[in-house]
Amino acid sequence: MKITVENGKLVVPDHPTIPYILGDGIGRDITPVALKVFDAAVEKAFNGKRKVEWKKILAGEEAIEKFNEPLPQETIDTIREYVIAIKGPLTTPVGGGYRSLNVTLRQKLDLFVCFRPVRYLKGVPSPMKHPELLDVIVFRENTEDVYAGIEWPYDSAEAKEVSNFLKNKMGVELREDSGIGIKPISVFGSKRIGKAAIDYALKYGRKSVTVVHKGNIMKYTEGLFKNVIYALADDPEYKDKVITEERVKSEFDGKAPEGKIVLKNRIADAMFQQLLLRPDEYDVIVTPNLNGDYLSDAAAAQVGGLGMAPGGNINFNTHIALFEATHGSAPKHAGKNEVNPGSIILSGAEMFEYMGWDKVKYMLIDAIEKTIAEKYVTYDLARQIEGATKVSTSEFGDRIIKNLEA
Ligand code: NAD
Repeated sequence: MKITVENGKLVVPDHPTIPYILGDGIGRDITPVALKVFDAAVEKAFNGKRKVEWKKILAGEEAIEKFNEPLPQETIDTIREYVIAIKGPLTTPVGGGYRSLNVTLRQKLDLFVCFRPVRYLKGVPSPMKHPELLDVIVFRENTEDVYAGIEWPYDSAEAKEVSNFLKNKMGVELREDSGIGIKPISVFGSKRIGKAAIDYALKYGRKSVTVVHKGNIMKYTEGLFKNVIYALADDPEYKDKVITEERVKSEFDGKAPEGKIVLKNRIADAMFQQLLLRPDEYDVIVTPNLNGDYLSDAAAAQVGGLGMAPGGNINFNTHIALFEATHGSAPKHAGKNEVNPGSIILSGAEMFEYMGWDKVKYMLIDAIEKTIAEKYVTYDLARQIEGATKVSTSEFGDRIIKNLEA
């Protein structure tokens, strides 16, 4: 049965159909293992009362083989129709009409949040002394900023035209040989992601939302982003639930009133140091596209790397969501049954929470932690954990299944 949206809310039947994209390269190794783990976890969590019907949809190399087109319209329409989907990594086609299949999917489905939870899993090797102190969710804006794809090569007629416009109409002179990109950040885009981040913090009992920006320099883009989200603290919808850090300091002696979410802001460059030195002061983070790209990977590295980082691309208004492995298709490891399926399994865990099947998420996390504690891990972890035994992708999956506890 289809997952639907009724009166603005997700309605998830006991036997939902969820489309999946296998993915290129190591997608073929990790995705089938992940689906097997998901089935076992759902069965155990609900004693067989619930079960996912997986519906295969094509993108990337498989779609090229069948349709001579890496991202068929049918695939996009199916995700829209079934509301929630999950994908393996897709190789970015070299040349041709696509900048990136992932970016195209995000834009076509208007998945305006790149949702990246970062939390430490016990036993994962990390460069930090206390990696467990970091537990944040990055809300990276997905549709605007210099990533919107509005750019022209230095020697193109378009760049020349824009350059002439700037010179003649705006009195701004660029070097002749400049490539030009545009950085749009809108009130609309900033407000909807700000609301999504605050709503998430309220729903899951998080303590703060921090806007990370470079508004000190880019006043009318990143500064706008910060101001629009900060203004939500005075919005009738939020003013009883949200308070700015500045007000907490000036009116409440630095101690936030019980039950209110604290809205903070940090300059992007300073935030990298903050996450290293004071990780426990941050919770939900909301940031424009480029900052978010760097920050979510840096935060993931802090808790032990990208190999196991979960993620999803979500439109919190239409509820359409595409969860994904955050790493790429690693072609040199493809078909060898050796890579870590952790990222896609943990992305699935987030997907189950998003569906309201929270129990499955915590079972999956516990089972992965237990498997790592037993030191039977894939090569990437085995080489960093003393006394570990290296196992294949599928064996790692089977061991996770064995460690599932309701
Ligand atoms: P990559 O993430 O595919 O691989 C880099 C290295 O990371 C690998 O060589 C491997 O050593 C390690 N690695 C990645 N995933 C791993 C896993 N699950 N287990 C163990 N080790 C793992 O990055 P890349 O080589 O830069 O990109 C390859 C292709 O993937 C490119 O076409 C790129 O555009 C694409 N890509 C796709 C996505 C996505 O679909 N979301 C994300 C990033 C890159």
